[in-house]
Amino acid sequence: MIKITVDTHTHTSVSAHAFSTLEENLAAAAKKGLEGIAMTNHGPDLGDGAVWFHFKSARHLPRWVNGVRLLPGAEVDIMDKKGRLDIEDKYLKDLELVIASFHTPCFPENSPIEDVTEAWLNVMDNEHVDVLGHMGDGRYMCDYEAVVKKAKETGKIIEINNHSFRVRAGSDVNCRQIALLCKKYSVPVVLSTDAHFSLEVGEVPNSIRLMEEIDFPEELILNTSLKKLCDYLKVEI
Ligand SMILES: [Zn+2]
Ligand SMILES: [Zn+2]
Repeated sequence: MIKITVDTHTHTSVSAHAFSTLEENLAAAAKKGLEGIAMTNHGPDLGDGAVWFHFKSARHLPRWVNGVRLLPGAEVDIMDKKGRLDIEDKYLKDLELVIASFHTPCFPENSPIEDVTEAWLNVMDNEHVDVLGHMGDGRYMCDYEAVVKKAKETGKIIEINNHSFRVRAGSDVNCRQIALLCKKYSVPVVLSTDAHFSLEVGEVPNSIRLMEEIDFPEELILNTSLKKLCDYLKVEI
């Protein structure tokens, strides 16, 4: 039975559409026995709250709270085909876990597959990006094989986002296809909640079900251990 010990994608009430504070998320993580949690609020161009100052200041947060390792991070928005992001590199470099994702206010939904693929390929040239976020979103179809292969080359991590199965149409089928390619090319993944409320922290039943159905190798799931994840990210525990 797969069990995650680090939640790599959580929002706090700094993002207007999320409803728990950082302390509440940390308390929930401690209660569930997690080893760690990444705080990954949206970049400024999504228009839901966090501004650059949030990301600049996050590096000063304590790394351990009640026995839980806090990884200051971001969910940065992909703005165009060139892979431009809405948080500058000078702030991203001090964050410990950076997810890049497509969201409708920043990149047109149902864009041509070629455009989405090109954007992902360019995003992966940014050394500060660690994770490709909710890649199975049916509104942003791309050439999965090309993207997964480049993830292998560049050392990027693919996210299997538990929240997507509920809110992003097409994710079930698409995530399966992506996960099978990750298995084929030995690309590491993380299973994340994308929690917008503290009760969701650490809960990834849909992502786990998918991994078990396709017999995904557990050693490639980085967030089943804080040490495995931090070693991969080259972050000190
Ligand atoms: Zn997102
Ligand atoms: Zn998110």
